Amino acid sequence: MSNFSHLAVKSVLGLNPYLPGKPIEELEREYGVKDIIKLASNENPLGPSPKALEAISNSKKDIWLYPDGNGFELKAKLAAKHGVDSSRITLGNGSSEPLEYIIRAFVNQGDEVLFSEHSFAIYPILTKAVGGIGVAAKAKNWGYDLNALYDAITPKTKVIFIANPNNPTGTWLNKDELYRFIQSVSDQIIIVVDEAYFEYASAPETGADGQFPNAMEWIDEFPNLMVTRTFSKAYGLAGLRIGYSVSHPEVADLMNRIRPPFNVNSLALVAAIAALDDTEHLNNTVKTNAAGLIQLGTAFESMGLETIPSVANFISVDLKKPAAPVYDALLHHGVIVRPVANYGMPNHLRITIGTKEQNQKFINGLELSL
Ligand SMILES: *Cc1c(COP(=O)(O)O)cnc(C)c1O
Repeated sequence: MSNFSHLAVKSVLGLNPYLPGKPIEELEREYGVKDIIKLASNENPLGPSPKALEAISNSKKDIWLYPDGNGFELKAKLAAKHGVDSSRITLGNGSSEPLEYIIRAFVNQGDEVLFSEHSFAIYPILTKAVGGIGVAAKAKNWGYDLNALYDAITPKTKVIFIANPNNPTGTWLNKDELYRFIQSVSDQIIIVVDEAYFEYASAPETGADGQFPNAMEWIDEFPNLMVTRTFSKAYGLAGLRIGYSVSHPEVADLMNRIRPPFNVNSLALVAAIAALDDTEHLNNTVKTNAAGLIQLGTAFESMGLETIPSVANFISVDLKKPAAPVYDALLHHGVIVRPVANYGMPNHLRITIGTKEQNQKFINGLELSL
């Protein structure tokens, strides 16, 4: 037996790895189950945009070349879309990367990084990895409580993460409350608004009544604000790993010093550009999701189960008993959902909204598993 742990960086020893949703192939291998559906990682059940697939086909002959390390064309397109200068944009191998860069660029050992209870597991992991201290403010109705968040700020706070809507709860903050919060915080603290589910939450179908904020609109006003978006969710490109942040150019420059060259591959770049043009696919995606939220909501209600109101492409349901055995029973029915005990929610399951048929298969499985 070799022993390398004593050689490792101390902050790394204290980490627990991120638990992803179970891959379909793994369930096939382990349980011998067929016809599996995965509603565990908030992927787009309609798949990628056909335009993105076509762009990949057209570009695959070029994969022997390094990609454009600056992602010029995609950045230009995003800059135009958001009405910002390209110098504000940092591309990442998934939006998880700019989340990591911001921590590595700003958080020293012992500095504090603030977020909410029941929020994205990546925030504390990235923080601890650099010897920072993750501080989880108390939640309210499972979502961000901005008063509690404000009260948790100390002189050591360097970065605040706000997932809007929040994962794994689907809860959201409205324009006024989020704006007032950002306004109230010192401009010497970086505020990251993580908008991974923006396309869903801002859709008229989703029930946020036009009150869902686009934090990108405040980027000029608040130099300490950074907004992240991803192609992994509504754009259906999770496997390609591409996302981005919009921030003050100086913050982007600092992050760019950490960013590995060629962190975004050439197929991801062309697919993202094409996906941005495919509004039809995006509209179908959002509509399918809105219908699915209603379908699952109705089913849960008839089973007497309580859900956390969600504006995202997933919903968390309270089983009023430990969810782990139900999760396992669902696996045997070929349905992969997400247990969220590691988010302090041992009685909940998080279900990604699927197609109508997938949702029905999940509902049938759940009825047999409860
Ligand atoms: C899925 C998700 C992301 C994005 O992950 P990618 O690295 O872009 O695939 C970021 N934040 C939250 C809250 C998420 O749920």
